[in-house]
Amino acid sequence: MATESSVTEVAPEIFLIDCYFAGLPGQCGVFLIRGETVALVDTGPSVNAQDVVAGLNHLGLAASDISHILLTHFHLDHAGAASFLLDHNPEATVLVDAGSIGFLVDPERLVRSAHKSLGEVAPHYGTMLPIPGERIVALKDGFELELGGGKSLTALHTPGHSRGHFAFYEPGSGVLLCGDALGHFIQEASYIFPATPAPEFDLDASLASAARLAALRPEILLFPHFGFSRDAQAVIRHFTEQVKRFVDMAAHLEEVERNPQHLSELLFRDLPSLGEDEAKLQGGILTVNAAGILHYLRQSAREGL
Ligand SMILES: [Zn+2]
Repeated sequence: MATESSVTEVAPEIFLIDCYFAGLPGQCGVFLIRGETVALVDTGPSVNAQDVVAGLNHLGLAASDISHILLTHFHLDHAGAASFLLDHNPEATVLVDAGSIGFLVDPERLVRSAHKSLGEVAPHYGTMLPIPGERIVALKDGFELELGGGKSLTALHTPGHSRGHFAFYEPGSGVLLCGDALGHFIQEASYIFPATPAPEFDLDASLASAARLAALRPEILLFPHFGFSRDAQAVIRHFTEQVKRFVDMAAHLEEVERNPQHLSELLFRDLPSLGEDEAKLQGGILTVNAAGILHYLRQSAREGL
């Protein structure tokens, strides 16, 4: 399989490895933190495992050099390649929220339901193979992973995008690895669109998580989708406005317009202009996000009764 490698050092010994999601650069990445031991935050989807390995090789590393794989959450584009990377690594441990361990041990149902909700973009997300339970450790809020060499990672429970979502903070460099808690970042345009998939997207939890992350006063935000920003407070404020605005747009649709296709077209108009391939991919992702917002609104309405 042809693989590409693109690695950016976003802070000293903290690297962004491009997964070439959907064959495109700049869509989905994983982060490698190198202390005396090496940690990988997220893995990318199964179909891009070799691109991650190519990135590791570019840094003079192999999959067997990773001691910990930390997952921000269980979605296939973040956790799908975990089992593939573990195959090359008898020692590494996977860290994920307790509620997702069952999915990782027995992912069949998860993969099936993910593919159903992903629709036309599903093939890019690949699959997930089982990970033995004894190789998985449950994350707790405030958990600290010491990597040596002045590097450590603190786990921060940041629900909203998904219930068991964790962000990771590297205090020595002020780096915040936000996972999907602050949405997708289009670095060239400094633009955020919130990632709001069904069935777990929750507006209030998203806003509370964003406030918690802002209070850390991070120096730099790292986004798996995709890139980084040194203007953390402005970007978090932008996320907060965007997620409220997107939900508001959905809430004000006429009954007949209240469908993912129509809403995703509205959301798409908000995006900066994109290349043709990227526009097609983001259109598919926005349809998933639109369905998630509508699901959230229906559920909130039911709970409000
Ligand atoms: Zn996700």
